[in-house]
Amino acid sequence: MPTVFTHAILAGAAAVALAERSARSRLVAAAVLVSTLPDADVIGFRFGVRYGDFLGHRGFFHSPCFALVLAFVCMLWLVRGPALFSRRWWGGWSLLAALGVSHGLLDALTDGGLGIALFAPFENSRYFLPWQPIPVAPIGVLAGLSPWGIEVLFWEAAHLWLPVCAVLFALALWRRALARRAAR
Ligand SMILES: [Zn+2]
Repeated sequence: MPTVFTHAILAGAAAVALAERSARSRLVAAAVLVSTLPDADVIGFRFGVRYGDFLGHRGFFHSPCFALVLAFVCMLWLVRGPALFSRRWWGGWSLLAALGVSHGLLDALTDGGLGIALFAPFENSRYFLPWQPIPVAPIGVLAGLSPWGIEVLFWEAAHLWLPVCAVLFALALWRRALARRAAR
């Protein structure tokens, strides 16, 4: 996986840049949640769940299907602002769903571990994307602070955080300029 910091930073920055102003703070919090929660599946190791199992690390909880449901739950209980099932509500859901799905896809771009159960719960095979440029991070908090973990963190900062945040910042400026022009 990329580190949990990378999932949180990229999703949080995307929500800051793309979310509607009225529900932005809650959407940013929900974005960080949907993008990081899948990695809580490592807890399963402590209870005897094996890596390749349905509920194992990178299994069902990393699937797009789970992300869609989690985004729905977040819109119901965490974001709440927009009227239920209104256009703005579905807009918030779409953003959270996309950011949740991004977790599995980013992990599928890494060069180690087992693949991602992208089609769970319908099919439990594990998949990588054809291109795997992201170095895999070690599993666990302590391992994340090892030289290997720190090295991966620096790689991600240079190759993911900076370019993605720069693009999102430019996008936010462009959207603000468009909104200003429309208000004139
Ligand atoms: Zn993951």
